[in-house]
Amino acid sequence: MVAQRSNSLSSDSVLLQPVEAIKGVGPRLARHLKAKGLVTVEHLLFNLPLGYLDQRGTIQISRLRPGDYVSFVATLLGEREVRYRRRKIYQVTFSDGTGVVTAKWFHYGRWLIQRFQGLKGSVRVSGTLRVFGGKLEIHHPEIEAVEGVNEEGSGGIVPRYSGIPGIGPRAYRRIMKEVVSSFIPQVEETLPVAVRDYFNLVDLQAALRQVHFPSELPEVERSLQLSPGLRRLIFEELFFLELLIIRSREMLARETGQAMGLDRDFLRRVGKLLPFSLTNAQKRVMREISADLGKRRPMNRLVQGDVGCGKTVVALLTAFIVIANGFQAAVMAPTEILAQQHYVNLKPYAEPLGVPLVLLTSKLKSREKQTSTEAIAKGEARLVIGTHALIQKHVTFQRLGLVVIDEQHRFGVLQRMALRQKGGSPHVLVMTATPIPRTLAMTAYGDLDVSVIDELPPGRTPVQTRIIHAKQRYKAYELLRQEFNQGHQAYIIYPLVEESEKSDLRDVTSMTEHLGKEVFPDIPLAMLHGRMAAEEKQKIMAAFASKQLQLLVATTVIEVGIDVPDATVMVVEHPERFGLSQLHQLRGRVGRSTHASYCLLIYEGGGLETRQRLAIMEQSNDGFRIAEEDLRLRGPGDLIGLQQAGFMDLKLANLVRDAETLAAARRAALTLIQKDPELTKPTHAVIRAKLQRQSHQVADLLQTS
Ligand code: ADP
Ligand code: MG
Repeated sequence: MVAQRSNSLSSDSVLLQPVEAIKGVGPRLARHLKAKGLVTVEHLLFNLPLGYLDQRGTIQISRLRPGDYVSFVATLLGEREVRYRRRKIYQVTFSDGTGVVTAKWFHYGRWLIQRFQGLKGSVRVSGTLRVFGGKLEIHHPEIEAVEGVNEEGSGGIVPRYSGIPGIGPRAYRRIMKEVVSSFIPQVEETLPVAVRDYFNLVDLQAALRQVHFPSELPEVERSLQLSPGLRRLIFEELFFLELLIIRSREMLARETGQAMGLDRDFLRRVGKLLPFSLTNAQKRVMREISADLGKRRPMNRLVQGDVGCGKTVVALLTAFIVIANGFQAAVMAPTEILAQQHYVNLKPYAEPLGVPLVLLTSKLKSREKQTSTEAIAKGEARLVIGTHALIQKHVTFQRLGLVVIDEQHRFGVLQRMALRQKGGSPHVLVMTATPIPRTLAMTAYGDLDVSVIDELPPGRTPVQTRIIHAKQRYKAYELLRQEFNQGHQAYIIYPLVEESEKSDLRDVTSMTEHLGKEVFPDIPLAMLHGRMAAEEKQKIMAAFASKQLQLLVATTVIEVGIDVPDATVMVVEHPERFGLSQLHQLRGRVGRSTHASYCLLIYEGGGLETRQRLAIMEQSNDGFRIAEEDLRLRGPGDLIGLQQAGFMDLKLANLVRDAETLAAARRAALTLIQKDPELTKPTHAVIRAKLQRQSHQVADLLQTS
């Protein structure tokens, strides 16, 4: 009896038990669960359903709504393999007397066909309903046998989890039933009663039960209302995030860092190398930064400024101040390509000043990596450019004085903490083009001071944006031709790397071939996407930067940071596939010099709504306004990639949808820390334990990222 055995354990260890402790989970199931990162009971409890299926009563096909995730019981009408383009598709038609749905599989094996051939009686079919050519379709649905005639009545509301290879939905539900009944009774409450009462939150046990096996269909499926259980869990997640931020800020305030003086002579030499003078905004931000650096407290500053405003030079000057004080400076970029670009761009400054510069990314050859790592450890490398590889454990600095994080929305609070633990209390400068609504800034950047560059370098003409229907693509090609004739360069962005049987979207690979053969046979062009080898990407970027290539056919790998001043045209195909803020970032790749620049959005399908959304791009060049429109129109979507991998490390909460809960959680966390700064009261022991686990996560990051 699992429940019995774990009674003697503290609540923490109950949750930390391995999945094998669950009745019915043997080595085989455990292996499949672990492959998906579900190692402990806690992982399972917090792996929440994607949604729920209402299996009460009979749901008729005729009443299903396209776009919904649906589940119905039907019998098989027919099955066959068909050819489409160069591929085979397996089609099965189902009916329940009220309507017909065709299920399609684009990848399948013999076993699937065998399963349907000779199938008698009904099956339950679940998946996202689509309309194609006026007919109902469902792709790669889940199929479950229906047991007995009464299945309908006994179904109830069942949770739908994201798929786990090797474990069918039914088997996974059985595991969760067991977890809920045996383990939830031992889960200890984490939020103080006062907090729960004040914010009207259900207790943790009830919340978990409700979220996994609700008795009523939660409204969340239909409206944006969250169920009380989910709201409570989201509150909890945000509460602990806020505690982490508040404590990290306090710890930082107590830290002592290295005060850096200004070596004016040296800076004058740097200034002579710059081909331009700083804008007033850049100067102001540099003053704020040098004031921070002068204090015996580590700087922790965010520089925010729209694409193209010139953040790189601020990073460069800051790095040189620190280097002139005898320290090392590290610049960390979110992508390989960007790190490489920084390396190439900073070299012309570092070399004449005699500052040794190295590049460190995880994709370097191991020999090169070793050379770089050694130079960093010995302190020979003074300016270090890299990717995430820089925060790995085996990378040690001899005298790290500054870390610059470029385009920071890919790094979360935890990553920043991990960085600081590299020792020596370095100054930290974070750069971002991502404007964040004020309500979120406290959390997203709660541990940072903020500087804003609100001015573009002189002589920039705003990028002219046009929406073009696919039928008039030739107009885009004409404009490209004109610009190529003037020696300018361009990007064309496609959403996919390769042709896919699942969609009609244009892709980089086949379009590069088409453009090179049919449209611009005389223009040097190449493709660039994330699946190419690092070395190849590097070569192509270098060739584009040095104008050996005039056209780059790419995916969104070039979304952030890329700076090639002579590029004047950005063409985006299928722009409806991208968020407005993402389009703004892409557009930011052009208009980086005094040449007139253009952004052409070539759309095909999509209704009026899509058109209106894209029209905002024609009207505005202001990243902040665009982000707000994105938020307003798409609602709780993925605003400016806030939910992107790593950012904030949130699993349940959506910072836009849950903005109010966020504010509440922040207030609760502040009050708690005021009352019990060290969390020493016995009633807060659970909180302390959970926070401790979070800081272990920081340590793990250092090892694995
Ligand atoms: P971002 O803020 O998007 O990172 P970059 O730092 O890449 O922008 O700068 C964009 C372009 O503007 C670069 O080509 C850079 O050399 C140029 N630039 C930066 N500051 C100035 C300035 N004060 N005057 C003229 N050009 C500048
Ligand atoms: Mg940049």
